[in-house]
Amino acid sequence: MSRMTVPWAPASTTEEHLASWARHRELQKLLFSGGFAGICYPSEYGGQGLSRAHQDAFNDECADYEMPWQITGASLLICAPMILEMGTEEQKQKFVRGAISGELVLCQLLSEPSGGSDLAGLLTRADRDGDTYIFNGQKTWSTFAYAADYGTCLVRTDWDAPKHRGLSMIIVPINDPQLHLNRVRMVNGDEEFCEEFFTDLVVPAENLIGTENDGWTVASRQLFYERQAVGGASPYASGRARNQGFMASVPIDELARSVGKADDPATREFVGWAHAQDVVMEQLVHRVSTGMASGEYPALASAMMRLNHAEIPQQKQDMMLDIAGSLAVLGDAQGDGYLQTIGVNYLMRQGISLGGGSAEMSRNMIAERVMGMPREMAADRDVPFREVRRGR
Ligand SMILES: Cc1cc2nc3c(=O)[nH]c(=O)nc-3n(C[C@H](O)[C@H](O)[C@H](O)COP(=O)(O)OP(=O)(O)OC[C@H]3O[C@@H](n4cnc5c(N)ncnc54)[C@H](O)[C@@H]3O)c2cc1C
Repeated sequence: MSRMTVPWAPASTTEEHLASWARHRELQKLLFSGGFAGICYPSEYGGQGLSRAHQDAFNDECADYEMPWQITGASLLICAPMILEMGTEEQKQKFVRGAISGELVLCQLLSEPSGGSDLAGLLTRADRDGDTYIFNGQKTWSTFAYAADYGTCLVRTDWDAPKHRGLSMIIVPINDPQLHLNRVRMVNGDEEFCEEFFTDLVVPAENLIGTENDGWTVASRQLFYERQAVGGASPYASGRARNQGFMASVPIDELARSVGKADDPATREFVGWAHAQDVVMEQLVHRVSTGMASGEYPALASAMMRLNHAEIPQQKQDMMLDIAGSLAVLGDAQGDGYLQTIGVNYLMRQGISLGGGSAEMSRNMIAERVMGMPREMAADRDVPFREVRRGR
């Protein structure tokens, strides 16, 4: 493993993406063989069984090294923790151990074209047939599904039950010929998103997580781990190297100096505000995590961290664009792409308030489930799903 030179330009072609995934799997295997993978995961499933303090110390040490941050995303921060909590012993041995060791990569198959916020209104179906389920339907916005081996897929298994009570979470193989996958090009030119079409895809019933038709309980736990990850509080976040990945971070004070605005009063105010927000975010994560662990706050309080990680980074992107001005598009004389990162990041700013559940849905959760305000009106609650009116 080597210290890295900062890659300002993300991989963009399909070949570059595939090469980068091959490298990340290799790095994860190297970490596993060295006893550094899955630091907070239990040792019986391939982890190290150590504490958050050990993980933090490791993260500090490896900040300047090339790390498999793509694998650390949905695979190890969201899907594997959910399987660890809700899966059978066989599922944990296969999927959790597989993810930690770098043998398997997992992705999330939740959102559908009909809408991600109303997740319980999904339309993809899985019909039980003996020891198997037959899948038909479509998923979308699945991050890095093209590089994954399996996806945790929320589907409808009972159309006569109300919408939250007829769902099941089932692990599907991505590389099956009955699953057709397309890459989706984003505004920054990247192709990490995918959409998947299932046509009579046959999946063994042993891949069901939890109980049939109780998939909402399982999905709620997966969404908890996602909010925890997006909110910056996951104990499983390992070796997120500085300046790597989607929206590689550019320190705001470094940016001010590089465009000659270090003495500009308005810019100095931005820099001060940004540093204050970093401290607030850190304290908020600590306070909410401690409150959830002690039972003082419900699990849905994780929406507070998620919301903060939507609002603050977006405001920072806006300020950075102001500081960089036209250089965010034109770049500087060195032509190394450093300043254009600000422009490309700005294009992606809206994604921060959607991925991991939208900022508005986080506000709803905080209002209804943390502050106890009245629930939003839902005409489809308690109505058999097949009778729920929906657009074509
Ligand atoms: C970077 C990124 C990564 C993602 N990765 C994945 C992934 O790996 N797997 C996956 O399954 N999905 C993924 N998604 C999809 C994501 O979960 C959805 O984008 C999100 O849940 C919103 O759903 P939607 O885009 O369908 O918007 P919609 O649900 O159609 O919502 C559109 C707008 O309406 C607002 N809205 C909707 N309902 C309400 C309401 N009741 N009250 C107030 N406002 C409301 C929303 O906040 C949003 O602004 C990803 C998205 C992004 C941006």
